[in-house]
Amino acid sequence: MINKIEHLGIAVTSLAESNKLFADLLGVQPYKEEGVESESVITSFFKLGESKVELLESVEGKGAIAQYLEKRGPGIHHVALDVTDIEFELNRLQGLGFQLIHAQPKPGADGKKIAFLHPKTTNGVLIELCEDMNPA
Ligand code: ZN
Repeated sequence: MINKIEHLGIAVTSLAESNKLFADLLGVQPYKEEGVESESVITSFFKLGESKVELLESVEGKGAIAQYLEKRGPGIHHVALDVTDIEFELNRLQGLGFQLIHAQPKPGADGKKIAFLHPKTTNGVLIELCEDMNPA
């Protein structure tokens, strides 16, 4: 089952500057900062009701976020959907013709298993599926 929009992922050039900007904008401080080595990013998270905002800065100009920033500059990078069973959803969506970037989920930030769908088959929107590994 797909439950809700878990977070919006926003690519930024400076996490320090954007943390301040989004703290001013949203009226809350980020509740965590976390590196994801496999993606060459540092992330920060803001809680906003049932959803979150994730800021992503590339590390040493490497990885998908660095490429994105180079091509398009800062902006909304992905929409993350909270799912109950990520393996089930990946199978289901692949069966419907959606192209998967990751056939198998992998560890992501914020205690999640994650996998991405290719924007080619989702109207240009990069979709992240995420399943909480420690549901409350
Ligand atoms: Zn994300």
